[in-house]
Amino acid sequence: MRRCTALLAALSLFAAPGAAQERPAVPTPASVLGFEPGADRKLPSWAQVVDYFQKLDAASPRIRMRVLGATTLGRPFIAVFIGDSATLHDLPKWREIQQRLADARQRRPGERDSLVMNGKLIVLVTSSIHSDEVGGIVTPLVLAHRLVTGEDPDARAIRANTIVILVPSLNPDGVDIVGDWYRATLGTPWEGSDPPRLYHWYTGHDNNRDWYAFTQAETQLTVDSLHDLWHPMIVNDIHQQDIDGGRIFIPPYLDPFEPNIDPIVMAALDQLGLAITWRMTAEGKTGIANFATYDAWTPSRAFAHYHGGVRLLTETASARLATPVDIPFDSLKPQRGFDPKVASWNFLSPWPGGRWTLGDIVDYQTSATWALLAASARERGAWVESFATIGERAVLGKRAPGREKWPAAYLIPMQQPDQAPLRAMLRILQRGQVEVRRATSPFIANRVRYSAGTYVVLTDQPYGAFAKALLEAQRYPDLREYPNGPPRAPYDVTAHTLPLLMGIGVAAVDSFPVTTSEPIAMVPPPKLEVPGLSGTTARRIGIYRSNAAAIDEGWTRWVFDQYHVPFTTVVDRELRDSALRSRFDVIVLPDQSPRELQDGAVSETYPDSLKGGIGDAGAAALQAFVNDGGTIVAFNDASRWAITALGLPLRDVLDGVSAKDFYAPGSLLRVELDRESPLVKTMVSHPVAWFEHSPAFEATDSTHVAVVARYPAGEDPLVSGWLLGGDKLRGKAALVDVTMGKGHVILFGFRPQYRGQSMGMFPLMWEAVGR
Ligand SMILES: [Zn+2]
Repeated sequence: MRRCTALLAALSLFAAPGAAQERPAVPTPASVLGFEPGADRKLPSWAQVVDYFQKLDAASPRIRMRVLGATTLGRPFIAVFIGDSATLHDLPKWREIQQRLADARQRRPGERDSLVMNGKLIVLVTSSIHSDEVGGIVTPLVLAHRLVTGEDPDARAIRANTIVILVPSLNPDGVDIVGDWYRATLGTPWEGSDPPRLYHWYTGHDNNRDWYAFTQAETQLTVDSLHDLWHPMIVNDIHQQDIDGGRIFIPPYLDPFEPNIDPIVMAALDQLGLAITWRMTAEGKTGIANFATYDAWTPSRAFAHYHGGVRLLTETASARLATPVDIPFDSLKPQRGFDPKVASWNFLSPWPGGRWTLGDIVDYQTSATWALLAASARERGAWVESFATIGERAVLGKRAPGREKWPAAYLIPMQQPDQAPLRAMLRILQRGQVEVRRATSPFIANRVRYSAGTYVVLTDQPYGAFAKALLEAQRYPDLREYPNGPPRAPYDVTAHTLPLLMGIGVAAVDSFPVTTSEPIAMVPPPKLEVPGLSGTTARRIGIYRSNAAAIDEGWTRWVFDQYHVPFTTVVDRELRDSALRSRFDVIVLPDQSPRELQDGAVSETYPDSLKGGIGDAGAAALQAFVNDGGTIVAFNDASRWAITALGLPLRDVLDGVSAKDFYAPGSLLRVELDRESPLVKTMVSHPVAWFEHSPAFEATDSTHVAVVARYPAGEDPLVSGWLLGGDKLRGKAALVDVTMGKGHVILFGFRPQYRGQSMGMFPLMWEAVGR
């Protein structure tokens, strides 16, 4: 792993607040970068971005740069604070006010009105979490310069009323992973293609699905140093979308939104999105879509929605990285919610088509962010008042009219089958500022006896909604394209129940009979260890990596690294090497489509050295590897490839079944284990499988197939999320161990290491890897 500690060490000196006697002139981005921001075919490196913000910090009392810590690969992770110089001079005071606005219990009697009158609007602007959305690397530079130097009424109102916290990149490593690739490929046929590797070391594009599990360094820094200290009322998250739809998406979102979000949040979000649309339309911007494509169901992308703030996503149309594209009007494609060729109530002014450049992207992103800041600054009082009210409702346990009655508390017994997931789950809640308490004496609730010390999460606390969203099962609404038609696909997955993912017993109760402790301190991190695999290379493990970068491959590495299980990455040309058995005992195929596994990066233009996939030669080598005593472990979709490519005596019963008849877009399903199987000997919790575009198996010849886990024969397996046609799964196999020659092929029909969260199923994975 590459580390950039030298840059980080230099910065920790530089970022110390100093008393600059004489300030240099405020630099423009171009004067530091050496090119105009948004120029065709020009992207800054992360060092240049940091350099620019350092120079702004040195030149203006209206901006302060902070290094929050180090990224996954060791780069400096920075945030800048922008506002009036008087505001920035006394940031702790404004943070204190914000804290008392957030938590009504911390206020002195009669203090509310003055807090609302004096409080600042806190806006967090986050950019370029997805590193191939390269406008987001440039826009923060333009935006910061305009905020610091602007003397127009909007700029003055923003600085007077708002503390803008700008995170120029939520993934600084990716700025260079994509930028280096782009610069290296300029002028070649593959200029503008995505790099053949993940742009976040572990999570790739999934790095913005980490806002409740908090697995990655960048998420942790943002939550610990910004969200939990500053409680932003508005989070503006700058993204890019496909090249041939609308020019920008701005909320309102499509239905459904997650039911624990306070409706005030959604109301504020909707009006702000339309206010931005109004301003941009008045500027003459076209191609703006509202109520389209994106929903607000999963908390994995929306920390703010459970913490008193709105998360306003913008998605601007992309080019080919920094290379311009030509998009004829006739080639624009209908999107969910609108047709970019037709004016409609939520798409008021179609874009005429033509050339689309990085400069256009930066222009739209800057314009949208500016409109957000200008519109909200002028409504400072309403935002602060609204924020205070959301917090008051939360601590009083007063829910919006029409919302379901909430349980009083969630009870989490100390005695759990495995302590590591229990600790991991409690730490997630605590990192999200949920107060966890302990029962002070034994008690009985819902006819169950609980011991003193039982963990208690009361729902009438500032972030009770966050806790409830993560601790309860999801019931995703049955949305169809038309009555009795196919399912209307959610934007993301539909389940996020931590106790089910982690194998922890939790109970909701309507009343709670005993007293509790004060909130406990952060529980210590769990000790993560797999006997026989952690810290030893006795078992020689390979993890396959495709040039069509697969997110699940990154998550697999992350989980292995967390448990200190050594492995070697294996690429296509090594798989085709017939000496596999002399190097490995087990090869893991992470979740990836059969087509990509077989053929490689099919959608990108790449040099010959990166073309191709496992192919027939690789499949033959893997077959020989198993026959010679090796083990292959395949996750989810990769199992489909293994059945065909290795000629296994199995079929996927969901093959060819339409979405109308079967659909599960990321749900938690109950499975039953064969307790005789050696693969389940360390499984202690109730098994729940993460099912996402997954297969379900049936043996065509059961002589060599051992079914390790199957879906229940007598009931629908859904425990959280959305499942249509659950009867198709009844009694079908979810995990099989196929004997082939002297070896084994173990197929998971689910993701046992889903986004690093499904700790309850990790034992099955470790047993398979150790088989
Ligand atoms: Zn994105």
